[in-house]
Amino acid sequence: MTIVVNLNGTLVPPGEAAVSVFDRGFLYGDSVYEVVRTYRRNPFELGAHLGRLGRSAERLGLELPWAAARTRREVLATLEAVPPAEVADAEAAPWNKGELSLRIIMTRGSGELGLDPALAVDPRAIVIASPLSAPPLAAYRAGVACRIVGVRHEPPGTVDPGAKTGAHLANVLALQEARAAGAHEALLLDRGGAVTEGASSNVFTVHEGAVRTPPLAAGILAGVTRELVLRLARAGGVEVREAPLLPGDLASADELFITSTAREVLPVTALDGRAVGSGRVGPVTTRLHALLRAAADREAAAG
Ligand code: PMP
Repeated sequence: MTIVVNLNGTLVPPGEAAVSVFDRGFLYGDSVYEVVRTYRRNPFELGAHLGRLGRSAERLGLELPWAAARTRREVLATLEAVPPAEVADAEAAPWNKGELSLRIIMTRGSGELGLDPALAVDPRAIVIASPLSAPPLAAYRAGVACRIVGVRHEPPGTVDPGAKTGAHLANVLALQEARAAGAHEALLLDRGGAVTEGASSNVFTVHEGAVRTPPLAAGILAGVTRELVLRLARAGGVEVREAPLLPGDLASADELFITSTAREVLPVTALDGRAVGSGRVGPVTTRLHALLRAAADREAAAG
C-alpha cells in the first residue's frame, strides 16, 4: 500500500519527503508528534489527539506551525490521497484490514546549530499516512508476552513523559531490550521501582474482576486509548482504579493487558517468561476489548 507524506501542506511521494539535517527534530528530538488510526478510513479520536498535540507543544514552549483546524484539514487531505489497499494482509485482525496510521509530526524547525530554542526558525509540519501496523489476529486470541526492562522511565522533571515528544531514546532502548528477550512490548519502571507504562502503550492489571492502571501522576503519557478504556469500563460497571502498580502486582494479576491506538486492548498472557493468571486471555480483557470495538464501530458508522 502506498505511503503519502504531507510536508508543510504539500503532498509528496515518500522518496522525496526530506527535512534538513539542521532540523531540531533530527538534532535534538525537539519535536512533538501524534499517531492516529483510522476505522473504515475515518480518523478515530482525532480531536483527542490534536488536543494532546497542543498540550505537548505547550509543555515544550514549542509554537505549532498549524492551528488545530488546519492540522485536521491536512490530515484529511493526506488520508484522501492514499489509494485503497490492493491486497489485504491475511494475518491482520478483520477490523484492521486496509486501515491507515496517520503520524503527525511538528518540529521546532531548523536554524543555526545550538541548543537554544530561540535559534529555531522554519518549523516543520508533517503528516505521514501509511498502512496501519497492528498486532495480527492471533495476538488477540493468544495474548502477547511483555518484559519488565532495566531501562528506567524518564522521571517527571526531566523530558516530560506526559508530553509526546520526539525525544524517545529511552523507549527505543526499552523495546530493544524486550525484543531481545522475545517479548512484544517493554514495560518500564520508575526509579522507585513502580510500574509506569509500556514503551508505546499503557498497562492495566485485573485482580478478581477489578481493573487497575497507574495514575497520570506516575508521570506517564495520557493515552487516548487509556482514557477511552477507563470511560467505557466505568460506564459498563467494571470496577476501575487509577493507582500505583508494582511488579509484584503484575506478576499476581489474573489478567494483564496493554492499550494503544494501534493495539486497542491487547491481552498479555506472559510476563518475564511466566504465564499471567491462567495463561489464557481473560474475560475482563475480552469484555473491555469488545466495548472498545463497539465504540470504534459506532464512530466509524457515524463517519
Ligand atoms: N505510552 C507511551 C509512552 C506511548 O508512546 C503511547 C503511544 N502513543 C501510549 C502510551 C499509548 O497512547 P495512545 O493510546 O494515545 O496511543
